Amino acid sequence: EWVNLNDFVSHILNRFDMIVKTDKNTDKKKKYTIRRELGNQALWVEIDTDKMMQVIDNIMNNAIKYSPDGGVITVRLVQNQNHVILSISDQGLGIPRKDLGKIFDRFYRVDKARSRAQGGTGLGLAIAKEIVEAHHGKIWADSSEGNGSTFYISLPYESMSEEDDWDEV
Ligand code: ATP
Ligand code: MG
Repeated sequence: EWVNLNDFVSHILNRFDMIVKTDKNTDKKKKYTIRRELGNQALWVEIDTDKMMQVIDNIMNNAIKYSPDGGVITVRLVQNQNHVILSISDQGLGIPRKDLGKIFDRFYRVDKARSRAQGGTGLGLAIAKEIVEAHHGKIWADSSEGNGSTFYISLPYESMSEEDDWDEV
């Protein structure tokens, strides 16, 4: 399905603005602020919308789950010559450098006890990787322990020049 990635991401984030999340450790409401840096240019991509929504949902849920109350989550969309890159940054506990390569493995979780307390199976990012790669894209993470993490999804993107729009049918 062809979608404007800008609108697609906005809709998902609007939904997260409405959801009430609970910290599984304290049973208290967990507040978070989503900062949008999406630009206003339409970015048309052909994606499996159900699957890509699952990818973004998991990264957003992780950002909330592994962040303290009141954290800011920054979602940015940038385009270059032939890719669009979606990044989701949190101010959470971060991921040790040695684990960065492994979190996309099935069932891999940093600090098992703490992760288990927050619920989940450790499959989210492994599934996300499969889905992104099926879209010929890439997914990776960057993190500074104690300061937060950023997850990146890069998807192929063809910027359409006006000439080749209609001529070649
Ligand atoms: P599931 O997604 O299946 O509910 P999960 O969230 O634990 O469970 P993944 O989404 O695959 O599993 O993430 C794997 C592990 O990577 C997590 O258990 C956590 O240790 C670490 N992780 C993922 N995202 C973050 C983040 N934003 N900040 C800190 N650690 C993270
Ligand atoms: Mg997860």
